[in-house]
Amino acid sequence: MIQLKNVSKLYESKEGNVLALKNINLTINKGDIYGIMGLSGAGKSTLIRCINLLESPTNGEVWVDGVDLTKLSHNLLRQSRRNMGMIFQNYHLLTSRNVEKNVAYPLELNNVKKHEINERVEQLLQLVGLWEKRKHYPSQLSGGQRQRVAIARALATNPQVLLSDEATSALDPITSRSILNLLQEINEKLNITVVLITHQMEVIEQICKKVAVLKDGEVVEEGSVHQVFKTP
Ligand code: ADP
Ligand code: ADP
Repeated sequence: MIQLKNVSKLYESKEGNVLALKNINLTINKGDIYGIMGLSGAGKSTLIRCINLLESPTNGEVWVDGVDLTKLSHNLLRQSRRNMGMIFQNYHLLTSRNVEKNVAYPLELNNVKKHEINERVEQLLQLVGLWEKRKHYPSQLSGGQRQRVAIARALATNPQVLLSDEATSALDPITSRSILNLLQEINEKLNITVVLITHQMEVIEQICKKVAVLKDGEVVEEGSVHQVFKTP
């Protein structure tokens, strides 16, 4: 369902050019929990941002459900982005809005009716276990709770894909594990494809079915987690 074909990304600046991605070819199937692993600077963040075209590839094609996103007009691209939620290491919550208003935000942007918003927000906050904290502000929550709000918000528009950019990197190991369990539950219950990037092997081992290892902008290994990490 997600296919990158010969994707390259060149950052050009006065300080010098960086070829962050070199001819990436990758297929991520529907229902996968797909991990992209690599050291800092390997190109992970650039790669995941090329999947929803937050970053435009310099070359290559990004196919999602049979459509090459690099060929879409601005408007169509905006529509297709609703099909992909994203979460980040630093949560990116709106600090002036409480929990329920954060989750409602993407729905308000899409002019969803008020009673539908309320219903959806309750469902999502029940799913992530934060309904009781709906009136709290982000500053009143722990890191794990903030990430749960971010996950609920990312799911608000009913996406088929959830992109995770180091979502557990700022969390302690136990909280990290509980967030990864939640992502796994979302993958299984809602049949949402999860693509995550991480520099931590244990994240991959805990929930991923498949993995690609990035090094200096290239995929150096790819396959099931078993194939890539556990061969003798
Ligand atoms: P990772 O997520 O694996 O740490 P990134 O995708 O952030 O890697 O970065 C890959 C390379 O691209 C690095 O050398 C980084 O410095 C460079 N890079 C990332 N973003 C930009 C940018 N906006 N402008 C210039 N260079 C960038
Ligand atoms: P932290 O340890 O930072 O508080 P957690 O992610 O462990 O963050 O938990 C955040 C909140 O979600 C807590 O209030 C907890 O009660 C609740 N919670 C934790 N795990 C679950 C779960 N599997 N289902 C529902 N709610 C949960």
